Amino acid sequence: KDTCTFLVILGGGESGVGTAILAKQKGYKVFVSDLGKMADKNKEVLEENNIDWEEQQHSEEKIFQADLVMKSPGIPEDAPLVNKLRGKGIKVISEIEFASEFTNAQIIGITGSNGKTTTTSLTNFILKNAGLKVGMAGNIGQSFAKQVADNVADTFVLELSSFQLDGIENFRPHIAVMTNITPDHLDRYNHRLEEYIASKFRITKNQTEEDFFIYDADNEIIEKWLNEFPIKSRKLPFSLQKEVENGACIKDDEIQITIDNNKFNMPTNTLSLEGKHNAKNAMAAATVAQLLRIRKETIRESLENFQGVEHRLEKVLKINNVQYINDSKATNVNATYYALESMEAETVWIVGGVDKGNEYSELLSLVNEKVKAIVCLGIDNSRIQNAFSNCVDIIVETQSMEEAVKEAYKLAERGDAVLLSPACASFDLFKNYEDRGRQFKEAVRNL
Ligand code: ADP
Repeated sequence: KDTCTFLVILGGGESGVGTAILAKQKGYKVFVSDLGKMADKNKEVLEENNIDWEEQQHSEEKIFQADLVMKSPGIPEDAPLVNKLRGKGIKVISEIEFASEFTNAQIIGITGSNGKTTTTSLTNFILKNAGLKVGMAGNIGQSFAKQVADNVADTFVLELSSFQLDGIENFRPHIAVMTNITPDHLDRYNHRLEEYIASKFRITKNQTEEDFFIYDADNEIIEKWLNEFPIKSRKLPFSLQKEVENGACIKDDEIQITIDNNKFNMPTNTLSLEGKHNAKNAMAAATVAQLLRIRKETIRESLENFQGVEHRLEKVLKINNVQYINDSKATNVNATYYALESMEAETVWIVGGVDKGNEYSELLSLVNEKVKAIVCLGIDNSRIQNAFSNCVDIIVETQSMEEAVKEAYKLAERGDAVLLSPACASFDLFKNYEDRGRQFKEAVRNL
């Protein structure tokens, strides 16, 4: 009597609830199970749609009846329940995989260790300005599944973490972008860099000769893997360092993009976002736009006007001619590297938090050149002290944002900058990086 497919959704957050709504709309029998507590608004949405759910438990008896399981990206690949499900031969997929089955929209998938959100937002901005009906989803904003259910877009720009890519089988982006690969999240990949890289490269796994792969040709890890990994799609590199025949590069202080006979150029000094890393993000986004045949003038204007994303080298205020910058999203050393590199003023640097085994030596020469004082912000600052005590005279320790900003204020002189770019996770003192960034901005405004 009950012939419809039974989908169990593990995790009742944004992507879980979105998937539930889409699945219900498509005639699935749906059950959402969350081991933690779900947000009230998510429970309400499920109730309104007559979808069964539970929280603070996984009722295995019910879950093992599933024909298919969607696992939210926050749940580890090797969680005991996930292993048991696979052991019983039940397929476990991601939201991205499930939702992509139900749309014919053009798909642009963006992955990488750093720069995903910026490149995704930048691409979305250009395509919106060009008048396309575009949906931005993945790790960002409203869930992909919900937007597919609402049928709001004919082009999707998806920010894809490696966790989302782990759960794909048939997902095929027409255009895939890889911003860069540096060691991050290795705790979830048995501390094996190869596993993390392989998971990022899954973005290309179902691509065909008709599709495109846009990637950072300056990144050694990507270059090395490209030689060993069979990729069917057409490769379009972007590079700050070398000239490329097809793809994007910098020449005569211009971004130059060539795709066969189609050429695009614009001066780098008109880009609204500062820093070399953002020039790369702009090249990636503009290459996507070129492939979609967006008017060149629209691409240029968009790249000149894009206002950036909160917590990424975000200019907060100028006080006494000192610029305060919020780069709270810099949760690893590579992101902080680019933040420091982009600094033109002498910098008072607020750094610290939960150290994920950081290799600070990569920052030494930049710190030497640009940083006049360090304000450590964290419960345990010993590794930062050890790394920089030989090259910076002033290192102060603080344990709250208010204290850190006050110390930085005292140390900065006219013309300097105060940069929050922690290179660490935020969980010792803050809820998350957004909370950290907001507290920084509030403390700055209270000065
Ligand atoms: P993601 O979504 O991959 O975490 P974001 O765009 O949110 O990337 O940026 C995260 C951090 O990395 C920010 O501090 C930002 O300034 C820095 N960043 C942005 N783009 C790049 C890049 N291409 N390479 C290195 N760091 C970058």
